[in-house]
Parts: sequence; C-alpha cells; structure tokens
Amino acid sequence: MEWETVIGLEIHAQLSTKSKIFSGASTAYGAEPNTQACAVDLGLPGVLPVLNREVVRMAAKFGLAIGAPIAPRSIFARKNYFYPDLPKGYQISQYELPVVGRGQVEIELEDGATRTIGVTRAHLEEDAGKSLHEDYHGMTGVDLNRAGTPLLEIVSEPDMRCAREAVAYMKKIHALVRYLEICDGNMQEGSFRCDANVSIRRKGTDKLGTRAEIKNLNSFRFLERAINYEVERQIDILEGGGAVVQETRLFDPDKGETRSMRSKEEANDYRYFPDPDLLPLDIQADFIEQVRASLPELPDEKKHRFMNEYGLSAYDAGVLTASREMAEYFEQVAAALSGQAKLAANWVMGELTGALNRENREIGNSPVSAKALGGLLLRIQDNTISGKIAKEVFEAMWAGEGDADQVIERKGLKQITDTGAIEQVIDQVIAENPSQLEQYRSGKDKLFGFFVGQVMKRTGGKANPAQVNELLKQKLS
Ligand code: ADP
Ligand code: MG
Repeated sequence: MEWETVIGLEIHAQLSTKSKIFSGASTAYGAEPNTQACAVDLGLPGVLPVLNREVVRMAAKFGLAIGAPIAPRSIFARKNYFYPDLPKGYQISQYELPVVGRGQVEIELEDGATRTIGVTRAHLEEDAGKSLHEDYHGMTGVDLNRAGTPLLEIVSEPDMRCAREAVAYMKKIHALVRYLEICDGNMQEGSFRCDANVSIRRKGTDKLGTRAEIKNLNSFRFLERAINYEVERQIDILEGGGAVVQETRLFDPDKGETRSMRSKEEANDYRYFPDPDLLPLDIQADFIEQVRASLPELPDEKKHRFMNEYGLSAYDAGVLTASREMAEYFEQVAAALSGQAKLAANWVMGELTGALNRENREIGNSPVSAKALGGLLLRIQDNTISGKIAKEVFEAMWAGEGDADQVIERKGLKQITDTGAIEQVIDQVIAENPSQLEQYRSGKDKLFGFFVGQVMKRTGGKANPAQVNELLKQKLS
C-alpha cells in the first residue's frame, strides 16, 4: 500500500479517411503487401506531400469533443529516425505546435465513482510501414501499405492511478472516436492502440518516478495485464534497492510479461524540425464552427441524459453509452417498456451482453433485436412470466425459435397465477412432507425455502413467486 502507481497513455487512433494523410493512395485494410504505397508515401525525391483536408476536420471534431482549443496555426515537423519500414528516414508528425490543445474526459469506475483525466494534446501524424518477422526465415518482410496512414496521437496527462483507470480511460477515448466516426476502433487491425507509460512513487510524494513505456498495446485486457505486471516489476526493483531505468518495453501476452526493447532515446535525438515541404496548418474560425455544428450527442452527454431521463446509476449509464449502437439498442428496449428502464438496463448489460460476448458478436448482429427483447421484458412486466423463465425464453429467441409470445406459447411457459391451482400444489407438497412441516411449525423457519423450492419444482418454475410466498405463509402457519 505504500506505493502509488502513475500512468499516462499515448493512444494512436487511425483516422478513417479513404486516402492517406499526404497522398491519394488508399488506406483500405488487408490489401496485398506494397500495393498501396505511392511515391509520396515513400518520400521519393521530387514529390510533395499535400495535406488531406478530412484529417483536419476529424482532429477538430476530437478536440471540440474533449473541450480543447483547436490551434489556429499548427506545424508539421519531421521526426528523423532510421528503420526499414520507414524508407523516407523521417516521419511527418507535429511536435511543438499540435493541432489539438489541452482537454479532458470523464471516466467511470465500477464502484460508481467518476474521475476526470486530462488530455495534454492530440496531434496529427503519419503511420510507418510494417515489418513482418514471422513469415520469412532469417529475413524480414516490409509491407509499406500502412505508410502514410493518418493517425491522431492522443497524449494523456499522467493522471491514472491503476490499471483499471487506464482501461476505463482507453475505453472512453475508444467510445469517443467511434461516436465521432473518425476512427473505426478496430483493435485487431491496429486501428486503435496505445503505449502505456508506467511509473511508481512512494505514496504522499509529488515527484514522478522513472517510467517505462510499454509499446503497442492493442487490447484492453493486454493493457490491464501489462500495467499490473509492470507495477509489480518496478516495486520488486525499488524494494530490492535498485533503480528503474527509463526504457521502452514490449508486452508478451503469452508469457504475461513485459520485456525490454530499447533504452529510451532522448526526444532531441529525433532532430525534429519543421517540414519544409508543408505549409503551416491554418484553421479558420468558421471551419471550427462548422465542425462544432456537426457533432453528435457525445458519450458523456448521453450518459448524463440516461441518468436523468431513466434514473440509471453513473456506472450503468456509462456502460450503456460505451457505444452508439448499445445506447440506441437500450433506448429502443426502454421505449417498449414504458417505465422500468432499470429492467431494460439490466437485461442489456446482463443477458444480452453475456450472449454477445459468448459468441463474439457485435450488438448490430444480435439475433435478438431491441424490439424483440422489449417484447420479452413486457411479459415480465405484465406477470406473464417470471424473470427466471424469461432467461429460458431469451435463450430460445437467441436460437431463432421465434418471438417471446411464440416461445412462451409453444413451450407452455406461461406463469401460473391461478390461486386455486397454486394452492392445490401447495397442499400436495405439505401432505407429502409431514416431518418438514412438523419442524417448521416448531420454529425451524429456514424450512420455508424448502417448501417454496418444492412448489416451484413441481410447477416447472412457472408458479408466480410472489403468490407462492403469500399462500405458503398462510397454509404453513
Ligand atoms: P515522450 O515524448 O518521451 O513519449 P512525454 O513527456 O510526451 O514523453 O510523455 C508521454 C506520456 O507519458 C504522457 O502520456 C505522459 O503523461 C506520460 N508520462 C510522463 N512521465 C511519466 C511518469 N513519470 N510516469 C507515468 N507516465 C508518465
Ligand atoms: Mg512516447
């Protein structure tokens, strides 16, 4: 407990433009290697980059969404380094004057708390190519299709204090870029990834500890595991009397470890200088106002509306607004129910999300539509079935066996609410269990549950639970 963890993330979001940031080559994913890199992407002599207007619009959207100023003038710079997947010998990025300044986002944690995380800046840059180490024995393949793909690098303040907060922050940015439709958020394809900077310090001290930077994490789970491993590693070093070295590390998901990749170059090793081929990026106020007018309802706005309009907790509202699709689905279910939004929320976050995860499906491909789920929950609301039976009906609907009413009808799952019928079953159960009755009447209250269980069992779970309780109480006393 005496150590405090400090985390800052650098998130790379690939902007979903059709063409590259400085050329007309396609950005489509999955093409044959080296078929989508043109002379500009390769930086061949005599060519000139031309900025894609769309990436500026997208960066401005992001900046406005986090309450950050959009720089009226920003500068593209060359970041010089040699690597086989960077034939130009430099990457075009932004350094001293980024397009998006300081902003912030709100994250929500599972215990219901919310925290504000600062975003230091966001800048535009081009991606490099890709080195392929696996497919060639003793050689490395280079695929330059990705060279020149537009990226928005979003740099956070070192504001996070544990892996879960870092995950919540990354999820929030992920939700945001997808709401804004500036990035497809596909983490498997590398469209959304992050570098995690992790350090520790003694609780109560202000000075930051020496950090390690864990590169290229492309899943929320890896981010969490990598940070937790890294924190343990640093604690072991410091408690053993050693010192953490500033370096770049890689996370190995199979081993669950981070390992050293290279010691950290000083930033000035890159010899940043303004790119002489590109004019300063000047953004007019009316352009920004145009972008502002195009913004959709954002995750935090939606979250607060869900809290006010549906009476949901901050956590529930946060989960349900993590994607536009999920939020839309929830609102349709809630609309079908007239009141009881909490019932809709529980089912969307519980059964539905569970089933989607189990089959690795997106909500847009759910076999049970929002309308169909609303129809099912209506039958809980009007006491046709219990919540427990509803789960069985849901599974049948998921398997394509029809809508709620059809399944309930065909399987005879309608709840028994006829008092006479329930009483009959209760009488049988009591008659068959004289010794339990004896014990119950002589004070063993716990046996009440036994009788409830027997009645439910005999009715195949269909007896209305509230009525069973009520009637049993009368009969047993
Ligand atoms: P660089 O340019 O070398 O990557 P920056 O100063 O831009 O370094 O910081 C990059 C990221 O690292 C930011 O998200 C920042 O919040 C985070 N960071 C900086 N120092 C620390 C530290 N001591 N511990 C944790 N994170 C840090
Ligand atoms: Mg960095």
